[in-house]
Amino acid sequence: MSSNSGNDDRDCVKCGTCSTVCPVYLVTGNEIHSPRGKQHLRAKIEKGERSSHFAEIFSQCLLCGACREACPRGLDTPELVIRVRSELPRISGISFLKYISRKALVNPSILAGLSRLGSAAGKLLEDRLPQDSGLRLRLHGFNRNTFRLPGRGYIEKLKSEPASDRAEQAKDQGQGINYFTGCLANHLQPGIAEALQFLVAETTGRKAAVPLTQTCCGMAGMSAGRPAEAIELARSNIKAFEGNDLPILTSCSSCYFQLKTYKELLADDPEWRKRAADFTERLREFSPFFLKKFSAEKDRLLASGTFTPSDLKVYYHDPCHLRFKLKIMEEPRNLLRIFPGLDLRELPGGPKCCGHGGLFQVAHPDLAQRIWHRDMTDYGDAALVTACSGCLLQWQSGLADINSNTRAKHLAVFIAELLKQKL
Ligand code: SF4
Ligand code: SF4
Repeated sequence: MSSNSGNDDRDCVKCGTCSTVCPVYLVTGNEIHSPRGKQHLRAKIEKGERSSHFAEIFSQCLLCGACREACPRGLDTPELVIRVRSELPRISGISFLKYISRKALVNPSILAGLSRLGSAAGKLLEDRLPQDSGLRLRLHGFNRNTFRLPGRGYIEKLKSEPASDRAEQAKDQGQGINYFTGCLANHLQPGIAEALQFLVAETTGRKAAVPLTQTCCGMAGMSAGRPAEAIELARSNIKAFEGNDLPILTSCSSCYFQLKTYKELLADDPEWRKRAADFTERLREFSPFFLKKFSAEKDRLLASGTFTPSDLKVYYHDPCHLRFKLKIMEEPRNLLRIFPGLDLRELPGGPKCCGHGGLFQVAHPDLAQRIWHRDMTDYGDAALVTACSGCLLQWQSGLADINSNTRAKHLAVFIAELLKQKL
């Protein structure tokens, strides 16, 4: 392991504070799965220890960030996990992705998940998703009811529009805001992108511009310990959005988190440093953006009878990427509070990790399910809303598994339906 890690001057004092918040440790009770256990191994790895078990041990992390938040020494265990994953070929004899693929091939849950998905649908999804989409790996193991395969992806549909129409639209769209869709809204659930466009049009009077060459944010590559891949995707996205200097709105919290890292990812690259910093400055997260817009528009919308009280129970799920580090928790709740008649509830026990964790769900589907079932359940006739694609898939899959009446929706879809009075 590289000796210039951010943790070198701060050693773990083994206080165990992190173990009380680690979703993986709380379910398995195994010290080696705790952040403290990983910090202990870090010291050994730095002394030259090698083991084929490191791939397994360092795959047991959701990268949720709860431990980083809790640690009195400020130790960044998720960053350590990502770094170790990138060094697995040398210290464990196998790359992280190869390790996950092997697990997928021998894990009955994953195989069952694939067969539930249906070979035709599964193949189609796999074929359709670009090679660099982080969704490719993350689809396995989910309940097939999670997926209704769209006829076409969102950007694919935009590309098929006549060039003259696109040029005309771009003239108007280009004056407002850009939209970074993320893989879920682009390839699998384009209804999220359409709902977001509806909300942008409602609050700004015009749709968002969608640069057609945008690609995966790179979070899956980063989580897999493949920073070079993440950097390549970062460059592609920066380039894709350089057609104008307007803000860039996202509908996925995890994408937003990853896009925000571009500045650091390219900080040492003289050609890209400034371009990455400019890109990062332009990013806008879904809830703060629409909270501002809807706060300004509330009276007009109420007066015009655009929406009416719906008396609907709604739970908001905090994505870990917004809960820790970025600390965007009040904005989505305040956004929902704008709409009269909504009965906004908190999940019992407060915000919790849903157990998805990107590639964690692929490597450990059974454990991911146990983490979800620990606190999540059927909330009856209610809506569960979130703005993270990973969390959304986890909730949709988990609720389908237990035949729940609770409907998990993206926040954009929920609010758009509310405004269209479809709820
Ligand atoms: S909270 Fe920090 S210092 Fe305490 S055991 Fe965990 S990693 Fe070590
Ligand atoms: S990032 Fe989350 S899952 Fe990983 S060690 Fe920390 S608390 Fe546990």
